[in-house]
Amino acid sequence: MSAAAPFREARIDLGALAANLAVLRRLVAPSLVMGVVKADGYGHGAELVARALSEAGAEWLGVADIEEGLALRRAGIVTPMLAWLHGPDADFAPAVAAGIDLGISSLDQLERAAAASGGLGRAMVHLKVDSGLSRNGIAPAERGAVLARAAALQAGGRIHVRGIFSHLSNTSAADDDRQREVFDQAVAEAHAAGLSPELRHLAATQAAVERPGLRFELVRIGIGLYGLPAAESMDAAAIGLRPVMQLSAAVAAVRRVPAGTRVSYGYTHRTEHETTLALIPLGYADGVPRAASGRGMVAINGRSCPVVGRIAMDQFVVDVGEGRVAVGDRAVLWGDPADAVPSAQSWAAAAGTIGYEIVTRVGPRVPRVAR
Ligand SMILES: *Cc1c(COP(=O)(O)O)cnc(C)c1O
Repeated sequence: MSAAAPFREARIDLGALAANLAVLRRLVAPSLVMGVVKADGYGHGAELVARALSEAGAEWLGVADIEEGLALRRAGIVTPMLAWLHGPDADFAPAVAAGIDLGISSLDQLERAAAASGGLGRAMVHLKVDSGLSRNGIAPAERGAVLARAAALQAGGRIHVRGIFSHLSNTSAADDDRQREVFDQAVAEAHAAGLSPELRHLAATQAAVERPGLRFELVRIGIGLYGLPAAESMDAAAIGLRPVMQLSAAVAAVRRVPAGTRVSYGYTHRTEHETTLALIPLGYADGVPRAASGRGMVAINGRSCPVVGRIAMDQFVVDVGEGRVAVGDRAVLWGDPADAVPSAQSWAAAAGTIGYEIVTRVGPRVPRVAR
């Protein structure tokens, strides 16, 4: 008898990650690549992926929170890094001391970055311009004041404006072009104010892949590195990207049941024939979307088995039909379709969401295991 599969496991294929980086670097060259590893590396394990991306030649790493960046620095990762989302009380001094560049979205943040400069180093900042999304980023009404103050602080040696950036809505090519115009205008205003940021960056995965004219000096790539498409229009496999995460569990129980057997909370499923049911010990606490109840598919021994009944917090049931299945067999929820397993995209479709949310929500009970 072969050994039972691991109880719960997210295999992280670091070879696929490095290959995806190589594909994307070739595609966007000579632009530099920032590997985005926020939200625990999109659920893949931030330290694991940040180290692998650094070793594979990513020039930059990007995180949302300063604390995410500091954790990577504590793990010994020295790659240039940018953090761009800050709470009202965020302490910028540890970031400056750790050599983490700060994305700046307001005059208040700019002043606090300058105040954090000093004995431990000079704050390196990237001004984040709101070019249309109306969320994080310097509001249009504040832009003039921020640029003037940044120029004064830089002239006084208190900060260095290394970059200027913005983020796209990915609504349409025309909308992205309109945002690019606003961005170009902001860059021109920065130059007029006496600043000359060496890095302009606007594109995330979708624009980096589809819009060569929007790449500038640097692109910030998240989802593409993890081998998933940024939009339905994008065929990740066609450009050579492979999914990095494979989520699996060991079948925890198997039982033969008669027709008319009802399954899981609310009895939303009733078997039509005699069949074999298998219990999968993963649930919504582990990131398996409850909205995919009765819709998701799982691969067991090369056979595609439908989820039947409701997905619970810790477990759900699949119908194996007349297929061969034993306790301890590996059940794969999502991974690389080239391995004859379902994709995170198919689970996203089953749950009415996007692949980003599927991988990012894999919970803390699931060990991430590098392959
Ligand atoms: C998350 C994020 C990215 C990465 O986006 P992908 O679509 O995953 O490539 C890039 N830039 C910013 C500002 C982000 O918040």
